[in-house]
Amino acid sequence: MTIPQHPALCIDLHCHSTASDGALTPTELLQRAADKNVTHLALTDHDTVNGLAEAQAAAAEHNIVLIPGIELSCLWRSRTIHIVGLDFDPDNREFRAALAQQHRNRWARAAMIDERLKKLAVPDLLERATANAGGDVPGRPHFARVMVESGVVRNTAQAFKRYLGAGKPGDVKAYWPELPEVVQWINQAGGIAVLAHPRKYRLTATKLRELTADFRRAGGRALEVSTSGQSSGDLGFLKELCVREKLLASQGSDFHFPGAPWCELGNIMKMPDGLEPVWHHFRQVPGNHAPA
Ligand code: MN
Ligand code: MN
Ligand code: MN
Repeated sequence: MTIPQHPALCIDLHCHSTASDGALTPTELLQRAADKNVTHLALTDHDTVNGLAEAQAAAAEHNIVLIPGIELSCLWRSRTIHIVGLDFDPDNREFRAALAQQHRNRWARAAMIDERLKKLAVPDLLERATANAGGDVPGRPHFARVMVESGVVRNTAQAFKRYLGAGKPGDVKAYWPELPEVVQWINQAGGIAVLAHPRKYRLTATKLRELTADFRRAGGRALEVSTSGQSSGDLGFLKELCVREKLLASQGSDFHFPGAPWCELGNIMKMPDGLEPVWHHFRQVPGNHAPA
C-alpha cells in the first residue's frame, strides 16, 4: 500500500492524559493537540483505556482522528519495557480481561506496600495514597507523598531512601507480564504492537538489537523511531534497526504535561525516508479519506 505522505498531516502516536500519569484530562489534551495542529493522535495511557471515550468525543469536536492506543509495561530479561498498542479494538473481551487482571495485580502490590509500611503507623496510608493517585492504584511516589504529609519523612527523596527504594521494605516488585504475552494481547485485539522509545532503556546497541529481534519474534510489528527532542544519531541508529528487523516505523512525542518544549504534542523529529510508516497499516489510514 503506497500512500503519499501529506505535508499537512501531523501525526502523534504516543501521549498521556490524567487517565494515567499525564497532567491534562483527555478533553484538555485534545484541545492542546488541536492548538498544535495535530491531525492524528493516539492517546496511549499506561495500562488503561479509560481515557479513550472522553478523548474520542473531544477528537470529534476538533476534527482530529483519534487512534485507539495504550502503553503497556512488561518484562524482558527482568527489565521493564514499554510496548505501545495502536489501532486495536478497545472493547475486545480478552484484551479487557487482561487489563483487569493487570489492575488487580497492581492493587495487590499497593496492598503489600501498605502492609510492609505498617510499622510507620501513618493513619490510613493506603486510602490516602489512593486519593493521592486520583482514586486509582497508588504507586510508590503516591505513598511517598503521603509519608511527607504525615511528617514521617522530610521529602519524597528521603521516603525512597529509607522506605521505598531498592532493597527497602516498601520496594515491592511490580508484577508485569512477560513481553510476548503483552504483544499477544494487542495482536488478538487486532492492533499493532510498537516497541516504545527504544533508546530510553539504556541498553547497549547489541542488547537493543536482541530486544528488538525478540519483540519481532513475539509478533511485534513496529518500532518507535521518531520522538520529541531526539538526537539525529539516535534517529539514524533506530532507522537502521527498523530496516534490519523489517519493522514498521512509528512516531510520538510521549507528551505528559505542558511546559516542557522538548516534549510537546506533535513536535516530533521528521521520520527518516525509506521506512514504512505504521499508520499505512491502520484501519483508518491518515492521508486517505477517513471513514464516514
Ligand atoms: Mn508516563
Ligand atoms: Mn514509556
Ligand atoms: Mn509514554
